[in-house]
Amino acid sequence: MSNCIFCRIVEGRIPAKILHQDDKTLVFEDINPQAPVHLLVIPKRHVASVHDCQQADELLMGHLLLTCAKVAAMKDVAASGYRVVTNVGADSGQTVFHLHLHVLGGRHLAWPPG
Ligand code: AMP
Ligand code: ZN
Repeated sequence: MSNCIFCRIVEGRIPAKILHQDDKTLVFEDINPQAPVHLLVIPKRHVASVHDCQQADELLMGHLLLTCAKVAAMKDVAASGYRVVTNVGADSGQTVFHLHLHVLGGRHLAWPPG
């Protein structure tokens, strides 16, 4: 989608600090980090949110979660712990409507979120 900022990052038309990628996923640093480690794990194919995934996306969704674990280990927060969160829709505060999993770590994270 040409008007989607994360699709533009996938296409290389907007710069990002890319940590990892494979044929299905891209991982880059959040531009406004909320923790010492704040990564965004996205599918390369445009999907608006978890709620827009279909049964055919089952493998992709599992792959996204496994990728979160992989990059958390790469950033050395696996032992200390980290959070994987994805916002869906207005009440959650979702601002970019291309599915992304936030991986947050490197400090204690309060619960419940605000
Ligand atoms: P959400 O509010 O869950 O939709 O999260 C969107 C996230 O994308 C926010 O944490 C933003 O800081 C981040 N973001 C927006 N634009 C960019 C960008 N160009 N590069 C990296 N992260 C971005
Ligand atoms: Zn997109």
